[in-house]
Amino acid sequence: MIYYSTKDKKVTASLEEGVKRGMAPDGGLYMPQHIPVLTRKELEEIKNSNSLAKTAQVIARRLFGDDIPAVALEELVEDALNFDTPVVEVSEGIYALELFHGPTLAFKDVGARFMARLLQYYNKGNEQQVHVLVATSGDTGSAVANGFLGVPGISVHVLYPSGQVSALQEKQFTTLGKNITALEVAGSFDDCQALVKQAFADEALRAEMTLTSANSINLARFLPQSFYYFRGWSQLVTGLATTGQVAADQMAADQVASHQVASNQQDVNPLVVAVPSGNFGNLTAGLVAREMGLPVHTFLAASNANDVVPEYLETSKYTPRPSVPTIANAMDVGAPSNFERILNLFGHRHDRITQHLKGYRYSDDQISKTMKQVYATKGYILDPHGATGYEAAREYIAAHPGSKVMFLETAHPAKFPETVKEATGVEAATPERLKAFAAGKKQTVEIAADYAAFRQYLDDRNN
Ligand SMILES: *Cc1c(COP(=O)(O)O)cnc(C)c1O
Repeated sequence: MIYYSTKDKKVTASLEEGVKRGMAPDGGLYMPQHIPVLTRKELEEIKNSNSLAKTAQVIARRLFGDDIPAVALEELVEDALNFDTPVVEVSEGIYALELFHGPTLAFKDVGARFMARLLQYYNKGNEQQVHVLVATSGDTGSAVANGFLGVPGISVHVLYPSGQVSALQEKQFTTLGKNITALEVAGSFDDCQALVKQAFADEALRAEMTLTSANSINLARFLPQSFYYFRGWSQLVTGLATTGQVAADQMAADQVASHQVASNQQDVNPLVVAVPSGNFGNLTAGLVAREMGLPVHTFLAASNANDVVPEYLETSKYTPRPSVPTIANAMDVGAPSNFERILNLFGHRHDRITQHLKGYRYSDDQISKTMKQVYATKGYILDPHGATGYEAAREYIAAHPGSKVMFLETAHPAKFPETVKEATGVEAATPERLKAFAAGKKQTVEIAADYAAFRQYLDDRNN
């Protein structure tokens, strides 16, 4: 597969170049030149598969099969996706696709684990260590650090602002040891990001050491996220969703047969997917899944107060701006990096985008209220991010009675104990692996928010 830059279709890369570079040299994001359309047989295979890994095998073969030998690709997928993404019915017509059963209890595990193994594959037999730099305000650092933990030939350096991430988040990337180093920066998240950017721009440094970015624009983090949309859909149509009197959805079944028709006609009872969004990597992966033949008609983009995309959908004006802090903080993004990919997918046509994408935005009060109500009436504890998806689903169904909406539950509620307690009055049971992190001992390298200091640290690491 060839990947092209969203800024210029003539700027292309192989999968290997794309995953190693992260961003295209012209500052664009990589997109696959031909999004493969799954055959009926492949969709059947997905419907009959009983795990995320098995579903992913079918899709990975089509996306990456030209670049990686079958056996190696199968092993990579099996190893990366060693957990499932179950669908749970939360209330009538509203289903949670739970993406928090991975090692750091958030959906970013999927992309981070896949990317780590892909990089390892491409670095085999290479003497030189690959150094992954990642700046984090919390969640990305833990998913990337844990995704790369123990992967041979790769060292990860996580930069985070001292005192500005929650204690639990900090534990998830400062206690690991092995090939993971946490750099506690005396500064802000923006300082951390600036240090990483400066390192990537430092040609002298790059001549000495192989540097890679593992942020969410990397195609190896973004594309694997399409896997779980299919996994969610297959559980819904086969009636395997938990608590499911999920009527085998005849509509969706018909759509399998002719997705082209389904996506062009007004469905009476279409499958709709709600995606809590920040940088919009997750939602873009859903749109790619749809191009591959996933029978979804409408996506609901659920935002917190950082609502540049809902605003664009309503007004056709895109106005990126500084983010404001909210209780769904992993979605506090004022200039979503993957928006460019969405524009690209739809040929920059607002009318086409709004056919398939509806925007919703929620204040902290509304998010909290939703968490409270859903717990009180259904006994299901939402995390603050998933709550925006749930609320978008509820609003959509109120306007389109009889619809089925699957929303992405992007993180486990136990990751946000204070917010959950305040909204619901209870504490989400903490999974064992989260407890294990909490018990670990924090180990960090403290550095000033100063490039000379960071450069010195990297030089020392390289020797
Ligand atoms: C990163 C994150 C999001 C936002 O995902 P995008 O792909 O950036 O839109 C939503 N919820 C949680 C819990 C996250 O960690």
